[in-house]
Amino acid sequence: MPYPLNIYGFPQAILHLDANAFFASVEQAVNPELKGKPVVVGKERGIVTAVSYEGKALGIKRGMTIVEVQKKFPKTIILESDYERYSLFSLKMFDILKKICPVVEEYSIDEAFADLQGLRGYLHLSYEEIGSKIKEDIKSTLGITVSIGISLTKVLAKIASNHRKPDGLTLISGREIHHYLKDLPVSEVWGIGPQRAALCEKLGIYSALDLASASEEFIKRHFPKPVYEIWLELRGIQVYPVVPFTKDKYKSISKALSFHPTQDIEFLLAQLSFNLERACFKARQYGLLAKGVIIFIKDEEFQTQSLEIKLSHPSAYPKEILPLLKEGMDLIYREGIKFRQVGVILTDLISESERATQLHLFRVNPSSTDKDLKSLYRAVDKINIKYGRTTLVHGVSLPVTKEKPLKKGSSLRIPFLSVRLS
Ligand SMILES: [Mg+2]
Repeated sequence: MPYPLNIYGFPQAILHLDANAFFASVEQAVNPELKGKPVVVGKERGIVTAVSYEGKALGIKRGMTIVEVQKKFPKTIILESDYERYSLFSLKMFDILKKICPVVEEYSIDEAFADLQGLRGYLHLSYEEIGSKIKEDIKSTLGITVSIGISLTKVLAKIASNHRKPDGLTLISGREIHHYLKDLPVSEVWGIGPQRAALCEKLGIYSALDLASASEEFIKRHFPKPVYEIWLELRGIQVYPVVPFTKDKYKSISKALSFHPTQDIEFLLAQLSFNLERACFKARQYGLLAKGVIIFIKDEEFQTQSLEIKLSHPSAYPKEILPLLKEGMDLIYREGIKFRQVGVILTDLISESERATQLHLFRVNPSSTDKDLKSLYRAVDKINIKYGRTTLVHGVSLPVTKEKPLKKGSSLRIPFLSVRLS
């Protein structure tokens, strides 16, 4: 079968990255005791939303009920989902990818496409070396594995990343396309759903190769335009570009604590300050800065008041943000009403490296206060990680730390934190 591009080598390339059993892998990365064990996520919904490879090997599948898993596979570790944690891992993972390949389309929380065109010369690396470097950087920083596929088009790159899992790296050049398509059921091609697969089978098309080998005239006569586009992509002709795009909905960190209803403003401010410290600590662990902050308070009747604050520059330092939150609190606090919860959400998170590039672009040097704050909080974080998270807090937060003792060293296990501290 003729592929017009194969004789010219591999001029254009698209990379597809897919994290393996993402939610379960993140849990295993954060808690090494879970490594090598069947782990399932989704306890709170009663349905399996992710399964570790060890669990898949036993036969556990997504969509099974938790009760079924408990009955059939009693040794399985069953966890509640922590979407915020997965989102932050996702953010960090795409950040690593973007450092190597600037043009990245975040397709879902654990999948992305990157355009590799022109990068070989720029990085002095082959496509294979680019793929290996991304895999290694993600593994060493986050402690999770990803599968990578590289080929001429998005549809082929997805077939490539799916080819070997977990921890795979597969390149499909133009001259090899048919090897990868011949045993692939047409229903597994990206974009061919069950209905189109049924139509294909009616027309005698069973494998992806059958589809790719059909004539243009045949495809146009029997199928709608999207299938024609997939047909082109299967033949190595790019139809779908990589569209750099970030899903902002994942980019927030929230911290909130409930307590016995009170109108004590000192106590409420302490809660606000402590939640801010916890949220900022988390942001710093992931190398993130917030461009906005939302504060909210919930009264006895469960009515919520909230206020959004835009920061003049991205920050993860309570010392800078706290004075603004106090002003905000004055606006939403109502005298004579008892409150039961105070919370803080850091929004519009960006990575420190993005911030650094921005500073560079505008030729502004980070001010000395910026650097001072950074080293101050680095020292604070080290102490709190070692001796417990309430060892060093802002004065305003003190009433909270007296309220109840908190567990020690609960954040020690985030894998990339240890990298940052070393
Ligand atoms: Mg995945």
